[in-house]
Amino acid sequence: MKQIVDHIAQTRNVALEELAALLTSEDHEALQYLFGRAHDEAQRIYGNKIFMRGLIEISNHCKNDCLYCGIRRSRQGIARYRLDKEQILECCQQGYGLGFRTFVMQGGEDAWFNDDRLCDIVAAIRSQYPDCAITLSVGERSRESYQRLYDAGADRYLLRHETADKRHYEKLHPAEMSFDNRQRCLRDLKEIGFQVGCGFMVGSPYQTFETLYQDLQLIRTLQPEMVGIGPFIPTAETPFADRPAGTVDATLRLIAIIRLIHPHALLPATTALGTLHPQGRELGIMAGANVIMPNLSPVAHRKDYSIYDNKLASGSEAAETVEDSRARLKLLGTEVPADRGDFQ
Ligand code: SAH
Repeated sequence: MKQIVDHIAQTRNVALEELAALLTSEDHEALQYLFGRAHDEAQRIYGNKIFMRGLIEISNHCKNDCLYCGIRRSRQGIARYRLDKEQILECCQQGYGLGFRTFVMQGGEDAWFNDDRLCDIVAAIRSQYPDCAITLSVGERSRESYQRLYDAGADRYLLRHETADKRHYEKLHPAEMSFDNRQRCLRDLKEIGFQVGCGFMVGSPYQTFETLYQDLQLIRTLQPEMVGIGPFIPTAETPFADRPAGTVDATLRLIAIIRLIHPHALLPATTALGTLHPQGRELGIMAGANVIMPNLSPVAHRKDYSIYDNKLASGSEAAETVEDSRARLKLLGTEVPADRGDFQ
């Protein structure tokens, strides 16, 4: 098993059989070796730094109906909200004071945030916080739209590919959504010059070793600056409400494998990981993650951005407790600077 880990680290690639072996292994010593090598690799490139991003959930209105997602269009039982420009700028002001130098605006695909409105908000943040990175995560848009957002001052874009297997994609999304369009978006974002993040859920329905293998190959070819992965968490009132959740264990193994095949990636220990395990964030970092994304959204709306059940928005996931997070992460020998944390 250790030989497989060494082979992946040397070749920056993983074979399907190696992936299956690592994901099913019960050799705990070898798994510690995998995590240790991945953590060392992150430290070799980024030192002992863990970068933090302030997550601002700007809207839970969404025109899409992704089968897994708790803010899907057809879900009735949730209160819908969107933030206006002033509210978003207040989040940034609060975050800046807490040491955040990256703001991530994430939301459902909400037509209210057309190019004019979103560019206006991006430009305002750009001029008020020239030393901060602006990340968007608002789904699929036209190339022209991405270009306008980039020109307005956005630096980075998160758009999980969700799965690199077209047939799998079609089992997770309604027929009107298109695998090819999502891939097109990722290519356009790269070509425009965004730092791009792709990613997927671990343990999503119908996921197999083969689809995961394809996810890893997509990472190798796309060479994204960021890769966000977290466990699938079933959500009430969605078609996948009764499916089993992905596991923390499989997520940690995949974080480590991604770190070894794409060592420079910025890899978050995601909220979903923290939601399933009280030390999920720390475990993610010890397995090779190097980014945390505490929640900077207005407290009154946090519960409504319910992409999955029991999503953590307090404790270690809340921006207000960032000093506490810093102290906890210091115990791991890492530090959390007030830094944009760009791709290196
Ligand atoms: N509309 C944006 C943001 C989507 S929410 C976009 O399309 O990119 C961000 C991510 O949350 C999604 O990409 C998905 O991978 C993840 N997510 C959604 N539902 C989830 C669930 N039930 N469990 C775990 N992760 C989920």
